[in-house]
Amino acid sequence: MADRYKCVLLFGAPGTGKGTQGKLLGERDGFVHVATGDIFRSLDKSSEMGRKFLHYSSRGELVPDDLTIELWKDFVAGLAKAGTYDPARDLLLLDGMPRSVAQAEMLDGVIEPLAIIHFTVDDIDAMVQRMKLRAEKEGRHDDADENVIRNRFDVYRNETAPVLDHYDKGLAIDIDAMGTIEDVHERVKAAIEPVHQRAFA
Ligand code: ADP
Repeated sequence: MADRYKCVLLFGAPGTGKGTQGKLLGERDGFVHVATGDIFRSLDKSSEMGRKFLHYSSRGELVPDDLTIELWKDFVAGLAKAGTYDPARDLLLLDGMPRSVAQAEMLDGVIEPLAIIHFTVDDIDAMVQRMKLRAEKEGRHDDADENVIRNRFDVYRNETAPVLDHYDKGLAIDIDAMGTIEDVHERVKAAIEPVHQRAFA
């Protein structure tokens, strides 16, 4: 099998801070943050794919698996081609991928997850509040409506959470997502530095 991309999955319900933490970690040497939601949001809204994204995300639903995987693979291949990502020395931090068991299966020959950072929270209402604030700040249409947010949690429970069972139990590292950005960053950093060291030793 061709070399698979070595990666760490950033995993957890919407609003738990995968994107915030992923961006911070991605600034470190040897880590490249790839957020599927950002790839979708960068699409031209009048393109076919851009329109499809708006159709599904405005309902809090997942974009169909095959389209998502195709777009994602092209994006990562583009990063490698441009030299932004070097598979021989960088760990990919995957944010929002895979988000369904079918996606995990489609990526089995493509990615090699070395750890799964699982952001945990007890307080869903606190998450909903975080997401509403973010929607205002960032102009995110999908999180402005509380019903859509609640639907995103249902989709997470029904479609995304089962992805954890697709992988070896030993890969998961639970990180408490409550606390300041800096606190959580320290926890995640401590968890993934050794993973990077082992990956390319
Ligand atoms: P958050 O960071 O709040 O968890 P994202 O920005 O990752 O949310 O995702 C926003 C929307 O983009 C999702 O609700 C979904 O419609 C779409 N999306 C993101 N990742 C995927 C994926 N792996 N498969 C299908 N759709 C996705």
